[in-house]
Amino acid sequence: MDYQAILNDIADEIRPFLKEGKVADYIPALAEVDPEQFGMALTLFDGTQFSVGDAETLFSIQSISKVFTFTLALNFYGTDMYKRIGREPSGNPFNSLVQLEYEHGIPRNPFINAGAINVTDALLSHYGDDGNTLHEVLTFIRSIADEPSIDYNETVAASEMDHGFRNLALANLMKSFNNLDNDVQEVVETYFKHCAVEMDTKMLSRAMLYLANHGVDPITGTVHITPQQAKRINAVMLTCGHYDASGDFAFHVGLPGKSGVGGGIVAVIPKLMGLAVWSPGLNAQGNSLVGTKALELFTTKTGLSVF
Ligand code: GLN
Repeated sequence: MDYQAILNDIADEIRPFLKEGKVADYIPALAEVDPEQFGMALTLFDGTQFSVGDAETLFSIQSISKVFTFTLALNFYGTDMYKRIGREPSGNPFNSLVQLEYEHGIPRNPFINAGAINVTDALLSHYGDDGNTLHEVLTFIRSIADEPSIDYNETVAASEMDHGFRNLALANLMKSFNNLDNDVQEVVETYFKHCAVEMDTKMLSRAMLYLANHGVDPITGTVHITPQQAKRINAVMLTCGHYDASGDFAFHVGLPGKSGVGGGIVAVIPKLMGLAVWSPGLNAQGNSLVGTKALELFTTKTGLSVF
């Protein structure tokens, strides 16, 4: 298949929509990003990459980091993880408080904010504080992306902390239900830091390979997670990766995927490739508007999806 020609076609077809999305201005540091950027990349199992547009521009991965932290937490908690976090779609905005109150402080899934904050808490209990948890998260991301330069942006993390009232509220609510072990401030700060990790679409598509290959990096042979856990992470990405637009994403794109309010989306084509797209303008549910369209075009043009 001529992946390069397909990516070039997609870049042409999405151009008229670049003005439609809206950047995430609730994090002031992200409001400054030029919304009319677009990059897309794929990585095959032998490491071959194809890309188009701003595929080497670093951006804030935001909630895409939730896939990586959940992977790490599953490694040592296994199924015990589901005592503190569910695995059902929430049908609610990613930062909603209402459901968390009704459901006694147990977040619906690891990919909404409450769930990811809870995962960060689990990581802090395991790895400890003083930067150890963040260090382990960064080490894991650098390893799966095969890119040692990856780091987080302190300005973005600080900007989110200054305006993080809702995430602090989620963490406090879980704490009130005894579903958060560590200090609220510390958990939320660590969560914001891993959300502020910066990567480009080439790195992200490379980083998805272990999930396309039953938990094993097909290039290095490193085992990151068991096949069963890889299956489950993919399942939760498919059902919960786009918040209250997860059904819509599955309907249009037909792949396990995860979005972030920085405008990035990662997706997995099992046994074949990792995919990543970036365009900062978001739709009403906080997912990249053009990114979603580009992935829909990709699965339509290639006939590659899980269905
Ligand atoms: N850091 C962001 C937040 O907590 C992540 C949200 C997202 O990417 N959907 O609001």
